Amino acid sequence: MLRKGEIPIKRHHESSLCNEFKNLVPGIKIIVTFHSSNPITVVFTDFDPNTGIVSGVKVGGNVLFFDCRRVESLFFPTTPPPCMNPMITLNVPDSITCTREITGTVTCNSVPVSGTVVTFSSDPAILTFISNPAITNENGQFSTTVTVPEGTGVGSVSITATTTVNGVTTSETETTTISCPPVTDNNPVFFPITQEQVPTETAGGLFSFVSVQAYYLPGAEVTRNGNERFREDMKNVSQIWGFPIVAEPGGPIQLTPNDLGPSFSLPSSLTNLKHDNASFKRLQEIHAAKFPNTVKVIAVWYAPFSEQTGGAIGTSFNNVGFPNQSSTSRFFQHIVIRNTANNGNNNSTLLHELGHTFFATASIENPVTGQLIPQNNICDPASPNCSDDHNTLPNNIMNSAAGNRTELVNSQRQKASSTFLFL
Ligand SMILES: [Zn+2]
Repeated sequence: MLRKGEIPIKRHHESSLCNEFKNLVPGIKIIVTFHSSNPITVVFTDFDPNTGIVSGVKVGGNVLFFDCRRVESLFFPTTPPPCMNPMITLNVPDSITCTREITGTVTCNSVPVSGTVVTFSSDPAILTFISNPAITNENGQFSTTVTVPEGTGVGSVSITATTTVNGVTTSETETTTISCPPVTDNNPVFFPITQEQVPTETAGGLFSFVSVQAYYLPGAEVTRNGNERFREDMKNVSQIWGFPIVAEPGGPIQLTPNDLGPSFSLPSSLTNLKHDNASFKRLQEIHAAKFPNTVKVIAVWYAPFSEQTGGAIGTSFNNVGFPNQSSTSRFFQHIVIRNTANNGNNNSTLLHELGHTFFATASIENPVTGQLIPQNNICDPASPNCSDDHNTLPNNIMNSAAGNRTELVNSQRQKASSTFLFL
């Protein structure tokens, strides 16, 4: 019985299907059918029990309202059981030189699995993978870049990719041949000099011999094959370059931390060593003090650098002014060689760096005055039109890839023997 002024509330028919909507959680997916229409999939958002109006969002984004009493059938799509049969494939080439991208796919019952984590390992564990882990894309594909440590000889390695899908772990292993010859150096450091800066002092006759003073920094390896390292490096240098190249009497000098001073610190990478680095300047000072009367003795610095792979294993610094790069400087030749060069695979490193030094100091003799005019071009005559510091001849000393190389061509010996460093 209604009293005056009261508004009747129209109660909807409480069908069993309307009751179903009362307990739905927003966000759940439902399939509804109206009056024999095709089923519609809707994401449920709200139900008003007073009006019986259901709201939801159709696939594609359209908002939908309907009266629960109009619903003929209501289904909850069941989630299929998780796939428990994952499979991973890995594509590895027959051989990898230094670096290579490898790819693969993760599927489950032949359906691509996206967003799954794939981890990589190698046996022996010498390879680096970037990135590790990798994540599969929408097609189930993954990729990572394999890096072989520089200086690695030819060998066999297995690569494994592993993933876990729905709690099931699966992996695939492929075997390949790896190698990565080291790079001797990046580009040598070279400063052109004027005719006046060509040294004229002589300790013997002109064109007699070239002299090398070696120094071991603390932490530098001093032996190879049980022999003294510098002596090993100097083996056959005269025969290969075709003119006398001799070690300074007394042999290499072992430097101590006291010699270098408390602030001495080289960069971790030889590649990043600059000619005017303060600690390198300290070394240049030591060399200049040892040879107050000549700039012709080449300094070879055996130094530890902490980087394990990559980068230069030796670098030559040519016509470097002491104490500064000005016309009043004394200009010296420096070669810096890393411990990595001492692994038996890079025996021609010193021979190679000496080549840069000889090319950087090559000169032309004025036939009238006998004065030496610097060529001021560090190029390797074995490169096309002398366009490069290095060449690509397979066993040539001046090939940019490090190794145990032994060959030179005549044009290289000819240019080298025009160095103004003869004492
Ligand atoms: Zn080089």
